[in-house]
Amino acid sequence: ALPPPAALTRTTCPYCGVGCGVLAAPDGRVVGDPEHPANRGRLCSKGTALGETLDLPGRLLHPEVRGKRASWDAALDAVAEGLRRAQSELGRDGVALYVSGQLLTEDYYAANKLAKGFLGTGNIDSNSRLCMASAVAAHRRAFGEDVVPGVYEDLEEADLVVLVGSNLAWCHPVLFQRIAQARALRPSLRLVIIDPRRTPSVEGADLHLAIRPGSDVALFNALLAHLDAGGHADAAFVEAHTRGLDRALAAARADAANAAERTGLDPADLDAFLDLFAGTPRVVTLWSQGINQSETGTDGANAIINAHLLTGRIGKPGAGPFSVTGQPNAMGGREVGALANILAGHLDWAVPGEAEIVRAHWNAPNLAAGPGLKAVELFQAVSAGRVGALWVMATNPAVSLPDGEAAREALARAPFLVVSDCMANTDTMAHAHVRLPALGWAEKSGTVTNSERVISRQRGFLRAPGEARPDWWIVAGVAARLGWGADFAWDGPAAIFREHAALTGLGNRGRRAFDISGLAGMTDADYEAMAPTRWPVPAAGPAPARFFADGAFPAGRARFVAVSQADQPADDGRLTLLTGRLRDQWHTMTRTGGVPRLMAHAPEPVLAVHPADAAGIEDGALARITGHGGAGAVLRLRHDTGQRRGTAFAPMHWTAQAAPAARVNGTVPPVFDPVSGQPALKSAR
Ligand code: SF4
Repeated sequence: ALPPPAALTRTTCPYCGVGCGVLAAPDGRVVGDPEHPANRGRLCSKGTALGETLDLPGRLLHPEVRGKRASWDAALDAVAEGLRRAQSELGRDGVALYVSGQLLTEDYYAANKLAKGFLGTGNIDSNSRLCMASAVAAHRRAFGEDVVPGVYEDLEEADLVVLVGSNLAWCHPVLFQRIAQARALRPSLRLVIIDPRRTPSVEGADLHLAIRPGSDVALFNALLAHLDAGGHADAAFVEAHTRGLDRALAAARADAANAAERTGLDPADLDAFLDLFAGTPRVVTLWSQGINQSETGTDGANAIINAHLLTGRIGKPGAGPFSVTGQPNAMGGREVGALANILAGHLDWAVPGEAEIVRAHWNAPNLAAGPGLKAVELFQAVSAGRVGALWVMATNPAVSLPDGEAAREALARAPFLVVSDCMANTDTMAHAHVRLPALGWAEKSGTVTNSERVISRQRGFLRAPGEARPDWWIVAGVAARLGWGADFAWDGPAAIFREHAALTGLGNRGRRAFDISGLAGMTDADYEAMAPTRWPVPAAGPAPARFFADGAFPAGRARFVAVSQADQPADDGRLTLLTGRLRDQWHTMTRTGGVPRLMAHAPEPVLAVHPADAAGIEDGALARITGHGGAGAVLRLRHDTGQRRGTAFAPMHWTAQAAPAARVNGTVPPVFDPVSGQPALKSAR
């Protein structure tokens, strides 16, 4: 039995954007937190095994400078000097930070403040660029701000849930469990899966549309045209609260004419979906990386949002478009502006006066003049010598970026590379000139924001090993050595959170939905005791119960975005590679790969191919993927009738550190969505 509640620490799971609450015992045993609104006591297989990840070997325990153990003073001096030198040689944009959805909001805030406010560069991007940047861009285009209108209860209150490009059963398991339980109690709740693969999420679904990869825009354009033609529009809502419908409809009708052909769907299945959506007012369309990680990811997300705007099915109980994030704190990074193209507090360089709000709040001497480089371009700039100092925090781009050879070459070429991480032997760390030991999940304290805008406390319950330190402390130490100590003089994460929250209440905030200024006055004790809290939390006036049901969009009116299906590549006989995640692994396996019972679920990387596409190749044979620039990965081939013809699926987790290695993302070309900058990792040829 676990110790009594008073001896347990209330914290949050670090793996996915569901953001489940966890109760942790001092000996590392964990159970789901029955009081957390995201999970009400549930945990998935990864969350349940968290206690088995705490004493993983391979932790980085001491700072190192050029391969030698160093004191913190010497290491921070070296980082400051490296940044200073790069800027003196290459200008402000000669430095860059590449950060992570694994950072807590306070860490993220500190890194963004240092980069954009004091180093004066927009060159700070997050690995969230690989996860949901297309959803961010779509929200901004449609609503005028990056706002997820839905909440998890909507999935239970809907009469129809549509999962698009999301294997929710494996990638956000507790949300899938909530839907499954709601369906068990109320069988009339229908479930439709739109995915080229027959994933575990399809089990028990009412309809599976095994769509041709990359044809989502055609499908949702067909839906928009169908909704309009069938008289399902909410004319009053559209008239009062939106703009741009005519152009969007014209584009949609053009795609609708041959939608079955373009999507590769059986016309009867396509019609069944269109009719089901049209006839079900309470519908949630949830999407994830299958939409976002595409050359047209932003258009795909806007095509989904268009259908909800037309029908006024947004912000109402059981109805709305719903983007779920991959990482536990991808949303927090968006809130503090740790993407290259946004400012802190959801503020925007493009809106007159908003950059000045940030500058004044930070007393920033060098606020970046505009957006910086997004992930793929950022590493290209390092390779080209335009960035001379790169600081990577809590992520492993050597494996996770597309075109892995180019990413590793950039890391190897970087004149000055700093990596702060809790693990010593990642593929990225191997290239570092300065290695900084950061706290791990069980040791650090701060906040995270999950996919339904709930801010939760993460609380450390184990002592830091060796000389590991919080990421915010490391950033503040470097800032002090660059002469900005007074502006980074926080005594803990609560002080950073107050500063972050205060920013969201400044200036002409009337048009911004993200407002947590009501939390800016928290004492340290309040912060320590903080219960999960959904934003907005304005200091003045009541918070809206829901976003957008009343048609109050940040942009005034919501915008229909006219989108057109891109031409599909001609069939040249090659298979299209689809990539994704497995149930029991996380990212590049730095944490889950060391847990035997998690490894047991899928001990080796497998390439799933339809038997008809693998004719003449035995099930169990070794197969080689030859990808961009000749990069290759070797996996065991499995015949799988759930695989759409013409495609093959491979998991993205295995790295050079894993045995066997199969760096799948590295075979994908560095193609990205031109609007969001998100790499098209989900499918490649
Ligand atoms: Fe952790 Fe996500 Fe599983 Fe919840 S669903 S326990 S947040 S991995």
